[in-house]
Amino acid sequence: MAKRDFYEVLGVEKGASDKEIKKAYRRMAMKFHPDRNPDDKEAEENFKEVNEAFEILSDDQKRAAYDQYGHAGVDPNMGGMGGTGGFGGAGGFGDVFGDVFGDIFGGGGHSRSSVQRGADLRYQLELSLEEAVKGTTKKIKIPSLVGCKSCDGTGAKKGTSPVTCSTCGGVGQVRMQQGFFSVQQTCPDCHGTGKMIKDPCRECHGEGRVQEYKTLSVKIPAGVDTGDRIRLAGEGEAGVNGGPAGDLYVQVSVVDHPIFQRDGKHLYCEVPITFVDAALGGELEVPTLDGRVKLKIPKETQTGKLFRLRDKGVTPVRGGSRGDLMCRVVVETPVHLTERQKELMQELKETFVAEGEHRQSPKKTSFFEGVKKFFDDMSS
Ligand SMILES: [Zn+2]
Ligand SMILES: [Zn+2]
Repeated sequence: MAKRDFYEVLGVEKGASDKEIKKAYRRMAMKFHPDRNPDDKEAEENFKEVNEAFEILSDDQKRAAYDQYGHAGVDPNMGGMGGTGGFGGAGGFGDVFGDVFGDIFGGGGHSRSSVQRGADLRYQLELSLEEAVKGTTKKIKIPSLVGCKSCDGTGAKKGTSPVTCSTCGGVGQVRMQQGFFSVQQTCPDCHGTGKMIKDPCRECHGEGRVQEYKTLSVKIPAGVDTGDRIRLAGEGEAGVNGGPAGDLYVQVSVVDHPIFQRDGKHLYCEVPITFVDAALGGELEVPTLDGRVKLKIPKETQTGKLFRLRDKGVTPVRGGSRGDLMCRVVVETPVHLTERQKELMQELKETFVAEGEHRQSPKKTSFFEGVKKFFDDMSS
């Protein structure tokens, strides 16, 4: 099956920055996430594709290999279990890009050594602000390679077992003559395992591992923020031939909240107030993550003023004091005025004029004095 271009998969330009790639990945991963598309085979395939593309393009070394050699530079399946060419014969190419074989979802069973640690998995977890601040337990479903039950992980069809590789005699390495030199390299036929599978298992196609979804309960500590990672040791991909399992990294991303914005341990919210309350002062009810609280607004409060509610922010996950909630009051100009209200305002305005406007509107007065001076200076 022909693979799509990784840049095309993420919908970015070839020269895209790391940041653009990350952003595109986030968008696509959310779109095709199995939690959002239950039992949708196509979305699952897309999700895998997107993850694979990101896995390569987010890693400078892998990306360089991909840019130079295309899929052949990074695809663990290109070696082929049957050994028809592949990396083994390409002058130790597999060694140079050895870590590429730890590809997350690619089913990288063709390793150089027979015992291999399973790949680490990454899971993008969306949390609401409340969940991130207070902590929670989340059930997540992750794709994972687990040992094939049908063949007990050997990759050989039931009733058969892998045989010693005839090319390398089971050593996994072969000597190749290159000009005057004899170089030792990974056996191209068994890819270093020393074993050949004559009759591959139908379930896992000789991989010894199959992909399954497993559900995990993840404890999210209070105070996490976008970008935090939670490591679950041993919850990654199964190892090969008895190797240890990889780890699972749960990557937190907090979705925007309709009321609060978060900046580190502080929370911000905007509270609209009437111009009457702003002028005369009053008591407002403002939201916090723990419920409503009363906030006293002094008289003559100007729009944009920040009121700090101590300890109503976030307790950072790495310790430290709890942050504050900053309420920014915004004076709302009244709309849909009745005739009576218009009259009253007109009357009010006249009292301002009678007093001399600078009394009630000192800012406005000094601003227009400044404007006047600016034009006077210009014309003189
Ligand atoms: Zn061999
Ligand atoms: Zn199997």
